[in-house]
Amino acid sequence: MQFSKFFNTVLLAVLYASAASASSLVPGAKHATHRVRNINSDVKLETFHPESSFTTFGEGVDHPLRKRDDVSVGDAAAAFVESQLGVKADAVQVKSTSENTEAKHAYIQQKLNGVPFANAVANVAFNKDDKVVAFGSSFVKPTKAAPATPSVKVEDAIKTAEQKLNGKFDAENFPAPSLEYLAKQDGSAALTHVFQVRNEDANTWFEAFVDAHTGELASVTDFRAEATYRVLPITKEVLTEGFQNLVDPQDTTASPQGWHSDGTTSTTSTAGNNAISFKGSQTSTTSQSGSGLQFIFNQSPSAAPTQQANLDAARTNAFYIVNTVHDISFKYGFTESTFNFQNNNFGNGGKANDRVTISVQDKNGVDNADFSTPPDGQSGAMRMFLWDITNPERDGALENDIVVHENTHGITNRLTGGGTGRCLQTTEAGGMGEGWSDAFAEWTEHKDSTVPDYVMGQYVTNDAAGIRTHPYSTSASTNPLRYSSIAQLNEVHDIGEVWANILHNVYAALVKAHGFSTTAHTDPTGSEGNIVYLHLFIDALSLQPCNPTLPTARDAWIQADVNRFGGANKCTLWNAFASRGLGQKAANHRDDTTVPAGC
Ligand SMILES: [Zn+2]
Repeated sequence: MQFSKFFNTVLLAVLYASAASASSLVPGAKHATHRVRNINSDVKLETFHPESSFTTFGEGVDHPLRKRDDVSVGDAAAAFVESQLGVKADAVQVKSTSENTEAKHAYIQQKLNGVPFANAVANVAFNKDDKVVAFGSSFVKPTKAAPATPSVKVEDAIKTAEQKLNGKFDAENFPAPSLEYLAKQDGSAALTHVFQVRNEDANTWFEAFVDAHTGELASVTDFRAEATYRVLPITKEVLTEGFQNLVDPQDTTASPQGWHSDGTTSTTSTAGNNAISFKGSQTSTTSQSGSGLQFIFNQSPSAAPTQQANLDAARTNAFYIVNTVHDISFKYGFTESTFNFQNNNFGNGGKANDRVTISVQDKNGVDNADFSTPPDGQSGAMRMFLWDITNPERDGALENDIVVHENTHGITNRLTGGGTGRCLQTTEAGGMGEGWSDAFAEWTEHKDSTVPDYVMGQYVTNDAAGIRTHPYSTSASTNPLRYSSIAQLNEVHDIGEVWANILHNVYAALVKAHGFSTTAHTDPTGSEGNIVYLHLFIDALSLQPCNPTLPTARDAWIQADVNRFGGANKCTLWNAFASRGLGQKAANHRDDTTVPAGC
């Protein structure tokens, strides 16, 4: 019964896929452009994100201003977009730029009547030779556009959104409302009032788009990425965690003032430039247990997690993990100028005052964790909950893979699309967000060149099988997920498993080819496979288009390898991607195992 149902669905997908790739009859066909959001019992929205094209150029092509001196990245990118899409200069606006050692990036918004589009964007990447190496675009040709002057007052728009989204616009702490066009599925362009609406108790945080002529809530950006963990019966033995006293784990190139100072203010608590770890309110941090920034608290697994020493151990551990993720990702290119999370950016670009806030033992949830990523300049908000599967309960802040998973949502949401927090919103891109988060958690735990199967969430669930449907594995019998599996999946964590398993195999292939560095967390200069992998992981996020798909994200990895390593890993990467169905001709959730000639 199960088998024949599955077969029918697959057959349907094959029949319709070529005729109408955007048809809702095809399972998964709207993953790349839509997302259904059940806001609450009264409000259900299907958001639309115009499809992103994505072209990579290997060694690069010239842009129109190449022969001029002193051309900014933004101007060069704007000229390139104009020439590629045949649009005039007044249709193009630079939103942000960033650079790492291998590439410069510009993120562009389409403009009409002097008003930028929220969801019609482009991104252009340049290599060290000032050549264009990647171009993504979701620009649209609207069939009709609303007048650029609103007929609905912004105050009324805010009232509507606050009511529909059950939250508040915080005039003091949120960016001022703006006017932006929104490309709609019917081909029209709606003028919208854009502003944030948050409800801290209910843990919702949206960017609302209210039609400035009809007054209707037209769309949302959901800044929150939730980890909805699959909970399994308690059938396994208790895991034991080994605590260790680490001395000076901070990396002073990534955090020049250490973890407890922003250069002006110093603390002796779990509050610093990159993160603040607290319970309840931000004044409830953990203070040092001894002078000289000692945070030594003996966690007792037999006592309740809320017991004082256990709470302090949890706040300390979460603070340590988020700072360590800050430092590792900084070394590999997630810096101030690429929109990371710091209160003081030390004059290195990007927007400041946005350290990660970590709410430990947050009272608003259980058996879960989440992370909200507003735009650069506003703090990323992590919430860790208790898990009530065991007695005593367990604390997610003490399971490192969960903390790293949540923190990675901030990295992927900031690097994709240039710091807007808007570019992992479709079902497929949101699913990949979950995949990157699992994959980065896995990366941090590798100890040698072996690549064992990886399981997420074993401690909090007290189950060696963890919280995903399969371990991540190089064995296709242990984990049979392939690119085509996505056609049957609708939930972002399920889709994420497909991407994380592909990345597990990419990682294994690179480590097999280049070996393993035991100092990869602090030294990104080596040539070992785990270092190569994390460089490509981070570099590709800046290259890929807004709301990427698995094929465009894969192309970004291939291009990142050209930029940084001259394409040395081309065949290793293609063979690994193709081994799970993401070969050269993979499209519309149909597998392909083709690799380039010579691979
Ligand atoms: Zn997640």
